[in-house]
Amino acid sequence: MRLSQFHLHTVKETPAEAEIVSHKLMLKAGMLRKLAAGLYTWSPLGLRVLRKVEAIVREEMDRAGAIELLMPTVQPRELWEETGRWEKFGNQLLKITDRKEADYCYAPTAEEVVTDFARSELASYKQLPLNFYQIQTKFRDEIRPRFGVMRSREFLMKDAYSFDLDDDGMRRSYEAMHAAYVRIFTRLGLRFRAVQADSGAIGGDASQEFHVLADSGEDAIAFSTGSDYAANIETAQAALPGPRPSPGEAMRKLDTPTQKTCEDVAALLGIDLQRTVKSIAVIGADADGKEQFVLALVRGDHDANEIKLAKVEGLANYRMATEAEILAHLGSEPGFLGPVIADGAAAQGARAPKPPIRVVADREVAAMADFVVGANEAGFHLAGVNWGRDLSEPDSVADLRSVVEGDRAADGGELRIVRGIEVGHVFQLGDKYAQAMGCTVLDEHGKPRVLKMGCYGIGISRIVAAAIEQNFDANGILWPDAMAPWRVAVCVINPKRDETVAAAAKALYRELVDAGIETVLDDRGLRPGQMFADIELIGIPHRVVVSDRGLAAGTFEYRARSAEGPENLDREALFARLR
Ligand code: ATP
Ligand code: MG
Ligand code: MG
Ligand code: MG
Repeated sequence: MRLSQFHLHTVKETPAEAEIVSHKLMLKAGMLRKLAAGLYTWSPLGLRVLRKVEAIVREEMDRAGAIELLMPTVQPRELWEETGRWEKFGNQLLKITDRKEADYCYAPTAEEVVTDFARSELASYKQLPLNFYQIQTKFRDEIRPRFGVMRSREFLMKDAYSFDLDDDGMRRSYEAMHAAYVRIFTRLGLRFRAVQADSGAIGGDASQEFHVLADSGEDAIAFSTGSDYAANIETAQAALPGPRPSPGEAMRKLDTPTQKTCEDVAALLGIDLQRTVKSIAVIGADADGKEQFVLALVRGDHDANEIKLAKVEGLANYRMATEAEILAHLGSEPGFLGPVIADGAAAQGARAPKPPIRVVADREVAAMADFVVGANEAGFHLAGVNWGRDLSEPDSVADLRSVVEGDRAADGGELRIVRGIEVGHVFQLGDKYAQAMGCTVLDEHGKPRVLKMGCYGIGISRIVAAAIEQNFDANGILWPDAMAPWRVAVCVINPKRDETVAAAAKALYRELVDAGIETVLDDRGLRPGQMFADIELIGIPHRVVVSDRGLAAGTFEYRARSAEGPENLDREALFARLR
C-alpha cells in the first residue's frame, strides 16, 4: 500500500470526550469515527487492525475444529419466547417491529438461533460432536456505552456453540475452546489471564473469562501467586463465608476506624483518581443541610460491575447540585435510598458527640450497594463496599486468601487483585437451551437425547482497544506485530525533490512486499517530523527511512517502534531484521 493513495486521517489534538488511552489514541490515529452513542465507523486504517484480529481468531477456531457459518443479526421474537429470554434478557435487547407488526430483536448473542439451526439440521449422534461459529455484528443497548469500541452498543463478536451427546463430550469441546483461546491471545501478543467466572445465571457447570490485564479495566480479578487459582472478583467474593451485609450495615462501616480517604480507597482498588468521570453521582451535605458540596463523583455501571471514583479536584466536568435537586432526585426515587439515609443518621445519632453525617447516593450506585459515601466535619470519607465486602480493608483480602488456601492446599502464595478487560468468555451450558427448544438427536439405541451445549464468545472489536491499553507510549500506539495495520513503513525523505531517493524507496518497498513482508510506503511527501509522528502514532512496529544521505552511504535507517533510537543497516542486515 502507498500512503499517498490511502486514506489516513490523524489528528493532533487529544479528543476531549475520550477518557482512556485506547479511546484517545484510536481517535487521534483516525481509526474510528463516532456516529452516535456506542456506534462507530471503522476507518480504512482501523479496519485493517480489526481484520488482523478477526483472521487470527478464525484461524484458531478452524484449527480447533469449529466450523464457520453466518446467522442473521435480526432474530424473530418467537425463538426468544421459547427460552423465555424475550423478557428475561432485559433492556440490552434491542426490539424492533417490521411493517407487518411482527417483533424481532437485533442479536446480542445467538444461542436461540444456533439451537434452532441445530435442531433442524441434526438427527443422529453420528453427526456429533459439532461446533458452529460465526464472526458477526452484535448489538447490546448498553446502559452506558463508553471508552469507544471497548464498550460500544454495536460490536463485532466471534461466537461459537458446541453440541455434544453427553457431559463428557461437552467438557472436551469446552477444553478445546479454552485451548484455542489461549493460543489466540498468545498469538495476539497480549498479557492475559483466564479466570473462573460465575455461571449461575446461564446455568451449566463451568465458565471462565479471559481478561487482558490493564489498569483501565472495568473488572477486577483475583489470583494467587502460588497456585493456579484465579477468579473474577464476583466469583472470588461469592466464595467468601458469611452472609452479605445489609446496606445498613455497610453504611455503619463509615463511622468505624476503618474509614478511608478517597485516595486510600482509590489506591487500594487501583483506580486512577485523575481519570475524568462525568456525572455527579454522590453529593454530601452538612448536618443542617445548608451547605451543599460535591463530595465525590462516583460512577457505577450496574451492568459492568465497574466503579470509578474521582475527587472533585482535578475534574473538569462537574457541577454543584443544589439541595433541592438532591431532594427532588431522592424524592422521585424512593426504595433503597431511604434506608441508607435513615441508617446513616441512626448510626451517627448513637455516636454523639461526633458531628452527624448525611449521605446521599446515586440511585444506580446505591442499588448495587457497591459504594457508600459519608462526610462529616473531619473531612470526606469513602468506603468501598462491593457485595457487602469492603475491598479497601486488608481484612477482606485476608478473607479472600483464606478461601483460596482453604479450596486448595496452602501454597504460600500471595493473593493479588488486579484489573482486567474481559475479552473472551467460555461457558458450559449443559442442556439449558437444548431442553427449552427441543434440540435432540437419536442415540445409538435409537432414543432421543437432549444435546449438551457450550458457548464461547470473543470480543473482536474490544480486543483492538484492549491491546492499546497494554501497548502505548507518549507518541502513540505500539502494536504487537500480529495486530499492526502494516508491519513495516518505508518513509521517503523529500520524494518530490529527489527522484533517485523516491525510486530507491519504491524499489525497496516492492522488494519487501515481494518477500512477503507487509509494508506501507509513506510517499506523501510530508516533512520528516510530521511523517514520523504519524507513523509512530498509528503504531507501525518497524520503520525504514530512505534518504539521500543513507543511499550515499549504502544504508537504510531502521528503527523498531519500541527501540531507543535508529540504526543504519545495509540491505542484507535490514532484510534479516524484518524477516
Ligand atoms: P461485559 O461484562 O464486559 O459486559 P459480557 O460478559 O456481557 O461483557 P459476553 O456475553 O460474555 O459479554 O460476550 C462475549 C464477549 O463479547 C465479551 O467477553 C466481550 O469481549 C465482548 N463484549 C460484550 N459486550 C461488549 C460491548 N458492549 N462492547 C464490546 N465488546 C463487548
Ligand atoms: Mg455485558
Ligand atoms: Mg462480563
Ligand atoms: Mg461475559
